[in-house]
Amino acid sequence: MLRALALLKDVFGYPAFRGQQAEIIAHVAGGGDCLVLMPTGGGKSLCYQIPALLRDGIAVVVSPLIALMQNQVAALHEAGVRAAFLNSSLSQMETAAVERGMLAGAYDLVYVAPERLLTPRFLDLLASTPLSLFAIDEAHCLSQWGHDFRPEYIQLSILHERFPGVPRLALTATADSVTRREIVERLGLNGARIFISSFDRPNIRYQIVDKVNGKVQLLAFIHAEHDGDAGIVYCLSRKKVEETTVWLVEKGIRALAYHAGMSTEDRSCNQEKFLREEGIVMVATIAFGMGIDKPDVRFVAHLDLPKSVEGYYQETGRAGRDGQAANAWMAYGLGDVVQQRRMIEGSEADAQFKRIASAKLDALLALCEATTCRRVRLLEYFGETTASIACGNCDVCLNPPQVWDGTVAAQKALSCAFRTGQRFGAGHLIDVLRGNDTARVGQWGHDKISTFGIGKELEDKAWRAIFRQLAALGLLTADSEGHGSLRLTAASRAVLNGSQTVSLRLQPERKKNTAKTKAA
Ligand code: ADP
Ligand code: ZN
Repeated sequence: MLRALALLKDVFGYPAFRGQQAEIIAHVAGGGDCLVLMPTGGGKSLCYQIPALLRDGIAVVVSPLIALMQNQVAALHEAGVRAAFLNSSLSQMETAAVERGMLAGAYDLVYVAPERLLTPRFLDLLASTPLSLFAIDEAHCLSQWGHDFRPEYIQLSILHERFPGVPRLALTATADSVTRREIVERLGLNGARIFISSFDRPNIRYQIVDKVNGKVQLLAFIHAEHDGDAGIVYCLSRKKVEETTVWLVEKGIRALAYHAGMSTEDRSCNQEKFLREEGIVMVATIAFGMGIDKPDVRFVAHLDLPKSVEGYYQETGRAGRDGQAANAWMAYGLGDVVQQRRMIEGSEADAQFKRIASAKLDALLALCEATTCRRVRLLEYFGETTASIACGNCDVCLNPPQVWDGTVAAQKALSCAFRTGQRFGAGHLIDVLRGNDTARVGQWGHDKISTFGIGKELEDKAWRAIFRQLAALGLLTADSEGHGSLRLTAASRAVLNGSQTVSLRLQPERKKNTAKTKAA
């Protein structure tokens, strides 16, 4: 593989391969199929770019995002590689020129959007040119249960049917076993080699805090640890992106917004600024980030809960791609659990989808409520059990929470929800438990019921944490119609009748974060 190494140095300017790159490249260059699971920033692109140069013919790279293609092709041109892309951003004339170039053998790599690839016209074109390989980037997009499903990806199974002799390489940073199996099945990669890199990102410090006032907590976090740093703040809705951006700007943070409801110009303008200028905080929905290669993002903050561990991992993975210390910070509260459960329940999807979506949410909630190392939990989720030593670089390791027997508290909370008719949210239930004489308590006569004032021993904050955990544990559920009203579940009974205990997490008092903490 001396030629591969020479290309790495001469064309891409790097002295050595990283991780499994050399092995993958040798395998593909030799005509083998494979599935590459490598975390974001791991260096997946070279795994097909170098074989594309080693083998005769055109390498066809299927990529879901226009921006990603353009960046990659621009970088390849800079390196002197003959590459082009085909997507909806090109005019008819430009498209025709690329197609002619392909027939004339003018390219080593052509990036193409899946919907374009699948047109009969393009497939015919491919049939009349020599092909070196197919690379299917972001292959998890074909998983229906994934967070990034793209229906066109499913039809990519046509590739091995029509071009059985051309090696195929599927790449993704999402590696849970369900997704992995789906990719192998749909792309006909049975028998292909699977290369799995470690998903550990040791320079990222994971922190998940109890949400009280997300924005205020975020600002305090930025001031304490990231003054002047570039970062990404993820919010669930467009509206919240806008509100948060305005608020941060008012507080003197250089924040910009990004979401799918903005015009293309505004979006790419903000994205450019984020990439080019220093110290910009991008407030965004998950529309932002895929394929963004900015090495010095120092933090990723979540003001809302992602939908799954994969989503969390992928979004937080955009921090610290340069290997320097970075933070993944999330504020999470009862409202998030209620909101996510309601979104799943209220969606149009079928029962199976809902089941999987809620299992995925449960896995994420377990990570949020973890009482042992978050990194170990995260890696276990991706099937890595080797690194089961506490990392020393997550909030749980640095500041271990205590676990207490919350059975009695849980019984009080559950019976309070029951006695008030399962029609109220945590705020009101806490008032009843604490015996607060609010107008609402009076109006409903809740000062006369047996659970009024039975929870005086705990403060509001503690009760909020209890309700959040009960919801996370599936012992309370949000009404899918109502406004955060909490109902009992089938699992609540065992707790109420004393046959099941409930172990809860006691949020430690946060130590003041003084110095900027660097990872080991
Ligand atoms: P991924 O697609 O896995 O997220 P990329 O292929 O975009 O990752 O690579 C991430 C970054 O790492 C890029 O800036 C790339 O140039 C760099 N990189 C990849 N391989 C190497 C290597 N062997 N040596 C140095 N840098 C590399
Ligand atoms: Zn840890």
